[in-house]
Amino acid sequence: MDAEDQLALPLPADPGSVVADVRDFLRGLKADLPLLFPARSRRVRKVPFRGGMLDFRVDVDSEARYSRFQESEEGLLLIRSPNDPAKPREILNEWYRGKASALFSERTALWAARMGLAYRSVRIKDQRTLWGSCSKEGNLNFNWRVVLAPPEALDYLVIHELAHLREMNHSRRFWALVAAQCPGWKAQRRWLREHSRELKKA
Ligand SMILES: [Zn+2]
Repeated sequence: MDAEDQLALPLPADPGSVVADVRDFLRGLKADLPLLFPARSRRVRKVPFRGGMLDFRVDVDSEARYSRFQESEEGLLLIRSPNDPAKPREILNEWYRGKASALFSERTALWAARMGLAYRSVRIKDQRTLWGSCSKEGNLNFNWRVVLAPPEALDYLVIHELAHLREMNHSRRFWALVAAQCPGWKAQRRWLREHSRELKKA
């Protein structure tokens, strides 16, 4: 484009389009010069997940209508909507609950098939005192905080609750059922006991 062409550009008809042009220009600059326009919060927090630690970052997208998550090898990025009244911690706990729902559904289906048991439902609860429970009717409840624990501890809990479908007690027969599927059950039970304080803080 030469100088003459620039002069020949028509003036925008309304101020709104000027604002839009400036916004587009800034957006282009941001993309080109990320160091001059750091995201509003790039502080990395470490948050527990499946026995390890995930990098957790929060960005604010002024145009986002809803908050959303991006998962990648670098960890978890919360792209927060300015309209979202929830704190990042609360939004993160919702993410954990979603993960818990998927993981407990999947692991319960798998272990029930292996143990030859039928159950009715899997529900995710927000309990401060219990990791899981099982009703006579076959309704299993699990605490979402167990997704913070190692996968083996989560599996132990699933096996434990499923074994209650056959033995509604903690008798020798019950523990034999658990041990048949989970030989390391004592270590997993101990892990959950020893970490219950920090898990329940979440
Ligand atoms: Zn039990």
